[in-house]
Amino acid sequence: MQAIHDLVRDVPDFPTPGVLFKDITPLLADAAAFAQCIDALCEPWRGAPVGAVCGIESRGFIFGAAMARALGAGFVALRKKGKLPPPVHGVDYGLEYGRDRLEIGQQTLAPGERVIVVDDVLATGGTLEAGRQLVERLGATVIGAGVVIELDALGGRSRWTGTAPLHALVRY
Ligand code: IMP
Repeated sequence: MQAIHDLVRDVPDFPTPGVLFKDITPLLADAAAFAQCIDALCEPWRGAPVGAVCGIESRGFIFGAAMARALGAGFVALRKKGKLPPPVHGVDYGLEYGRDRLEIGQQTLAPGERVIVVDDVLATGGTLEAGRQLVERLGATVIGAGVVIELDALGGRSRWTGTAPLHALVRY
């Protein structure tokens, strides 16, 4: 998608030295480009029954909530440690540097519910895979995942252990 290439800004050494950060905020601010992104993220699931879109904190909320509305599905927030009221399930996962934890409200998904997991960027893949594991912990079914940007060099796709398709709008 050309709009993503045109509008996403590379920010060197953010948030820490050595990291080349993809800043998606100009993409969100452009009405036509944002709408095009949501349409493209929804495209693989048109006509398929989708119970919920699970968006990963925090930029996954933006894309996930818009997708849920477009697909007629519910939205479920997968949040960082300590943000959701109990009871929650949590998964610890490795980041490029250090560890983090993602949580889901225990009563947010029904067993067998068909779910899409969404985030803005796939880097090393730990975050998206943690999201997949959380959904399955509740007995729901991950039918696929969507990201706006995949950073090929970081190999995140190989951490996605699900058989469900993982769609990226652009790959760098
Ligand atoms: P991963 O777990 O290494 O794949 O990192 C993915 C998570 O980190 C996502 O939730 C992204 O929002 C965030 N992230 C990693 N790199 C970038 C970036 O360059 N721009 C924006 N977010 C990023």
